[in-house]
Amino acid sequence: MKTLNLCILVCLAIAAHCGPILPPTGTQHDEEVAETYLKRFYNLTEQRGPTFRRGVSQLSKTLSEMQKFFGLKVTGTLDSDTLQVMKKPRCGVPDVSQYSTFPGNLKWPTNKLTYRIENYTPDMLMSEVDTVIEKALQVWARVTPLRFTRIYSGTADIRISFGSREHGDYYPFDGPDGTLAHAFAPSTGIGGDAHFDDDETFSFQSSNGYNLFLVAAHEFGHSMGLSHSSDPGALMYPVYSYRDPNSFSLPQDDVKGIQSLYGPNPDVNPEDPDPEPPTTPDACDPNLVLDAVTTLRGEKLFFKGRFFWRSYPQSYKAVQSLIKNFWPEVPDNLDAAYESRETDKVYLFKGRKVWALSGYDLVRGYPKSISSMGLPRTVKKINAVLYEEHSGKTLFFVDKHYYSYDEGRQTMDKGFPKLVGEGFPGMRGKVTAAFQVRGFTYLFKGPYMFEYSYRSKRLYRVLGNNYFLRC
Ligand SMILES: [Zn+2]
Ligand SMILES: [Zn+2]
Repeated sequence: MKTLNLCILVCLAIAAHCGPILPPTGTQHDEEVAETYLKRFYNLTEQRGPTFRRGVSQLSKTLSEMQKFFGLKVTGTLDSDTLQVMKKPRCGVPDVSQYSTFPGNLKWPTNKLTYRIENYTPDMLMSEVDTVIEKALQVWARVTPLRFTRIYSGTADIRISFGSREHGDYYPFDGPDGTLAHAFAPSTGIGGDAHFDDDETFSFQSSNGYNLFLVAAHEFGHSMGLSHSSDPGALMYPVYSYRDPNSFSLPQDDVKGIQSLYGPNPDVNPEDPDPEPPTTPDACDPNLVLDAVTTLRGEKLFFKGRFFWRSYPQSYKAVQSLIKNFWPEVPDNLDAAYESRETDKVYLFKGRKVWALSGYDLVRGYPKSISSMGLPRTVKKINAVLYEEHSGKTLFFVDKHYYSYDEGRQTMDKGFPKLVGEGFPGMRGKVTAAFQVRGFTYLFKGPYMFEYSYRSKRLYRVLGNNYFLRC
């Protein structure tokens, strides 16, 4: 891990929207982008030197480090995938793996801390700000011995303020979006303080603007001594994403992180422990049951809960993200997904609704009802969808049966539903996910994946769910 200044500044950046695939790389501008990025986030100190394509320069080494962190193919060269990640708004210090603390494990020497709200944002009522700040601190108090007392005068350990642009600490804010807030690691003086960019629009209970509770809870993690986490499900992940503040529960990665500094909460009643903290699904888990799988223009997407993995031909391993980070409107826990070559769109299903993606962009006019595809109104939920490349048919799996949809005519085929076993010998019961890869059909059932020859319909192999999800 890189050595950082004591009063390290960390920030929260807005969710990155994944744009279209970038054009071929290696332009002068791209190399400048990469160099600036590596200097800011990977402590690259070398001046402009040999280009990324030549030799084992410091640049190339640092680039490899960055690629490793993001699960990209480690090439040490500036390829389009790497550049795409670099162009996402982000902030702060990358971590070795999962949660991390500041170098030297900076922490408060006492568990009793004071905080003071020094000014307010005009976006919310003062009482709302008070409530949110208290609630955001309690996120951390709940799982540690840390206790917070509000003071109204004098110098608090954690001073909370709103400001814009240059606001007195030589780390000016950047106007709307981009950086939302920053906080300082535990120490005297400015240490522990949290500053919020007042050029943002903060909200109280909603997903409008940036939810102040979510931003503040993240910043207070820094105030307590946590740095950024590479776990996309963690509160300490550097990118902002909305989740319902009323049902928020601190994820396991953050709990482990903060407890590594302060230990658990001694006041938890063993008779009435808190519910288990939410975890991030692991591609290596042999019991992993995927919600949905699909191809997307040569990539593969695997959905599970709030997350999805993206595996693309050049990638070293699948990259995990929150669904909400890519498509805030798409719900978690999807039922099914497929890519239609006919329409060049990916369809995502949940309950009776379907969303459409063109590339990584959500198509306007969705969600639509699944009955718009000709499915009977009695179908309340689809378990899996398979697009058959050769026939142009799409198969909808509903419980033990499947329907066949003609993409060209946009109608359901007659003679369906059929039992799954009729079309796929050896397969009984519910299919949980399905797709075709290189002429083979893969039907997922629980933690297993059944490989069929498309032409002979023969079952070749039974594989683990993570066969394609290299881990
Ligand atoms: Zn941060
Ligand atoms: Zn500041």
